[in-house]
Amino acid sequence: MTTRSNTNTTPDSDSGSAPVPDSAATPSPRFPSPAHWIGGRPVPGGPDVIDVVNPANGRVIAAVPAGTAADVDSAVAAARTAFPAWAATGVTDRVATVRRLADVLESRVEEIALTITAELGSPLTESRIAQAGQPVALARATADVAQDFPWSETIGNSLVLRESLGVVGAITPWNFPLNQMMSKVAPALLAGNTLVVKPSEVTPLTARILAEAAAEAGLPGGVLNIVHGAGPVVGAAITAHPDVDMVTFTGSTAAGRLVAASAADSVKRVTLELGGKSASVVLPDADLEKAVALSLASAWFNNGQVCAAWTRLIVPADRQRQVAELLVAAAEGFRVGDPMSEPTRLGPLVSETQRERVDAYIRRGLADGARLVFGGPGRPDGCETGAYVRPTIFTDVDPDAVIAQEEIFGPVLSVIPYTDEEHAVAIANNSVYGLHGAVFGEPDHALSVARRLRTGQVDVNGGQYNMVAPFGGYKQSGNGGREFGRYGLDDQLETKSVQL
Ligand code: NDP
Repeated sequence: MTTRSNTNTTPDSDSGSAPVPDSAATPSPRFPSPAHWIGGRPVPGGPDVIDVVNPANGRVIAAVPAGTAADVDSAVAAARTAFPAWAATGVTDRVATVRRLADVLESRVEEIALTITAELGSPLTESRIAQAGQPVALARATADVAQDFPWSETIGNSLVLRESLGVVGAITPWNFPLNQMMSKVAPALLAGNTLVVKPSEVTPLTARILAEAAAEAGLPGGVLNIVHGAGPVVGAAITAHPDVDMVTFTGSTAAGRLVAASAADSVKRVTLELGGKSASVVLPDADLEKAVALSLASAWFNNGQVCAAWTRLIVPADRQRQVAELLVAAAEGFRVGDPMSEPTRLGPLVSETQRERVDAYIRRGLADGARLVFGGPGRPDGCETGAYVRPTIFTDVDPDAVIAQEEIFGPVLSVIPYTDEEHAVAIANNSVYGLHGAVFGEPDHALSVARRLRTGQVDVNGGQYNMVAPFGGYKQSGNGGREFGRYGLDDQLETKSVQL
């Protein structure tokens, strides 16, 4: 993070300014620099700002206020004030508001995609769908769930009521900026809760669009508040705040531990969505070409910066050579370069810090004796500036090696050979994480292996993404909460039993 005193950047507090699309070819691109959003309007921060940098070229494209604990106090007060009236609105009204929010965001999809590609480096073609389209679909799907949700039920002589929880603090990471916010905002709004959101300081620019869209959709002021700034300042102030009833956090396991410890003092509800090191298990009866193509696409999606990525490919030892050949052939098809260019499939990582981190892991893999079959350390040809790494594939990786155990968060795939099915399951479960995974094989056989994986989601033979299925992790990937669909809504509600 670079925090500096604001001498030449005026946070843009009106909603009308259009972004100037950035690209490596555009010399002086800038995006609107957002203020905080508190009580239904932009609120400028103090003199200190955090620069937002385009990782494709290192240029500053905007700045956000470096928020303080006092900003969090204001936002929590606004959320607390707005809570009783918002909680008292009917579910039908809340559902209609969230659907209008989705409509407004849909009308700004191209702007959202351009903004996220500029701040994150995700390829524009991917951004349009996964970064900009997905939050719209998620809001609608969650609204549908709320419409049909059992808000009350009878158990024996008790009437069991599901009620709004209060003020929710939402802390989100940089890899899917708007979607991560929407995963928390949609269920909160539908539950009748009010929010204080802290976006990642690295990719904060779509929070402004979300706030504007919420206002345009008719959300009352104070229901959705946004405070920009650094995790240890703004995030920590939210987690410790006595007037915040719940913290929903997505990010690294290390920060999640701090959040849980801090929130414990005021005994607030905490849900943690944390890291992953997911395995794709290829059984001997699998369609090998399909397994390889989907596993590589998962490992390298969003430039490898996905918590659920299948970064360990677990294959029969006697098929490893064939798998390596298929992987290399598939990898040749991934064009690396300017994320604003349509044919690009891999852009830069989110920051120079992340580039150095991932490059160090690639070097560590080599030093630990893994066999490099694609990529390697250093920058790709033609990408001498920007936070680029070479997308990399290792085979013969020891299941206990650092690159097989630690979350790299970059386009690095580790192929691990196994001898028999027990061995494959043991390798897959040999992780402190348990977020996601995959099994490829004859369908019944694959399902039987999927049941043995200690992980929150498993795709069998490329089973399609389901945005209302519960998402969350076993082990150090989470603390038992689940996002999406009725499970995500459930996590943001109180339960009252009335005996009649
Ligand atoms: P971080 O944990 O560094 O940050 C996540 C958020 O927490 C950011 O907004 C950050 O602020 C904030 N934060 C940092 N420290 C604290 C603190 N002490 N108290 C409160 N908030 C804090 O993760 P990254 O943003 O680097 O994202 C990558 C990580 O997120 C990966 O480990 C990945 O696996 C995980 N992730 C998990 C997902 C899941 O659903 N399980 C989904 C996506 C990512 P700041 O803006 O200063 O960084």
